[in-house]
Amino acid sequence: MPEVIVIGSGTGVPSLNRASPAILLKTKNTFVLLDSGPGTLRQLLKVNITFSQLDLILYTHFHPDHITDLIHFLFASKYTPGFQRKTPVFIWGPPGFLEFYNKLKQAFGSWIEVSKDKITLAEIPPGSLWAYEDIYIQPFSTFHTPHSQGYCLHTEGKKIAYTGDTDFDLSLVDAVKDADLLICEASFPASQKVEGHLTPTLAGELARKANAKCLLLTHFYPECDAIDIGAECRQSFTGPLYLAQDLMHIEL
Ligand SMILES: [Zn+2]
Ligand SMILES: [Zn+2]
Repeated sequence: MPEVIVIGSGTGVPSLNRASPAILLKTKNTFVLLDSGPGTLRQLLKVNITFSQLDLILYTHFHPDHITDLIHFLFASKYTPGFQRKTPVFIWGPPGFLEFYNKLKQAFGSWIEVSKDKITLAEIPPGSLWAYEDIYIQPFSTFHTPHSQGYCLHTEGKKIAYTGDTDFDLSLVDAVKDADLLICEASFPASQKVEGHLTPTLAGELARKANAKCLLLTHFYPECDAIDIGAECRQSFTGPLYLAQDLMHIEL
């Protein structure tokens, strides 16, 4: 059955306890990485996975805490001695992703230009449907930046939804409906709510309205670690609840 590993449960705030955002989905045949904040590739080594084993990388948006290790990934793909691939790594993101990549190339030049037999980049817009090996992928719009999006991944009879960063909107309920696992951001306590982000209570409300079977809260700013995150979430959601910790495994 599919397995989810929290690679980083934190944000852009440097923390010894919480690495920057990244989630790994392991299916029978495939390793999928969702976002890669700074330090993700090193963090993956702690669960015995090297960057070279990744098959598909999905980005939710272009904030540095979610995408910085793309630079590291490209550089490592080019300059790790002996590194080869039978098939390219697919790297997909929201509309604007290719422009973002071209700007990175302007900054770093040929140091991050990797041959097409090793990587393939594409934009996959909200509302489209994609397949990779044993996984169907549906991006959906989120409420954070003009192009931010989350992903529903369908595999082995399970639906896994990942919001990335978002504020609350009822359209999210439809997008993540009946997820077996909803991986949802919960950046700040209700008393310090920030526009463009959720609170544990709002994340719980989304899970309840969407009839999620299980909820995993992540993307915790230090303010969240100063409160009882679970208690705030329990005001709106009574189902199975995980509070992300780095390197936590969840089997579906
Ligand atoms: Zn973020
Ligand atoms: Zn963000």
